[in-house]
Amino acid sequence: MQSLSGRSKVVVNKRLTFLEKLYLPAIIGGIGITLRHLFKRKATIRYPEQKRSFSPVYRGHHVLKRDDKGAERCTACGLCAVACPAEAITMTAAERKKGEENLFREEKYAAVYEINMLRCIFCGLCEEACPKEAIFLTDRLVSTDYARDGFVYGKDKLVESIDKRIDVSKRQTPDVLEFKTHKQLTHNK
Ligand code: SF4
Ligand code: SF4
Repeated sequence: MQSLSGRSKVVVNKRLTFLEKLYLPAIIGGIGITLRHLFKRKATIRYPEQKRSFSPVYRGHHVLKRDDKGAERCTACGLCAVACPAEAITMTAAERKKGEENLFREEKYAAVYEINMLRCIFCGLCEEACPKEAIFLTDRLVSTDYARDGFVYGKDKLVESIDKRIDVSKRQTPDVLEFKTHKQLTHNK
């Protein structure tokens, strides 16, 4: 029966010729292909000694951003978790207490925020869904490991440190960058 692609071959029980029975032409042909590839530019690199440069908008290890004053931007609204096709994000919301205004930007914040990096497909939909510019993907790599246990990343690995901010401007469009220059807007404070 003809396949839909039309690429199927009918298998025949053909008798081998004398040359085919020797296998030599096939072996020589195979060695020829190997030699040809020896002198071609290699498609692989010797990682980790050699590293390829990434696109500036490479989607890697997420960061949970702080605002200009150092308060966590995430308000635990859950939109990123709903948008995530891999169901990799979980969180527990908590209410900000008096005196914690410098720690958390909004009255509600994520007491627990976790991303399962083994589930994540680095699609960037969480970043697009976030109304608070709290989560971004960065050009950092998620570390490899032999065990699965350590791949649920919590706030300790996701929230940027106050004195070592992560620049995400490359992931923002010119319109967004222009909008962010309007410091009088609450969103940008
Ligand atoms: S990058 Fe995609 S898969 Fe990964 S956490 Fe965000 S939405 Fe989920
Ligand atoms: S990262 Fe953004 S979308 Fe996700 S819970 Fe926090 S504020 Fe909401």
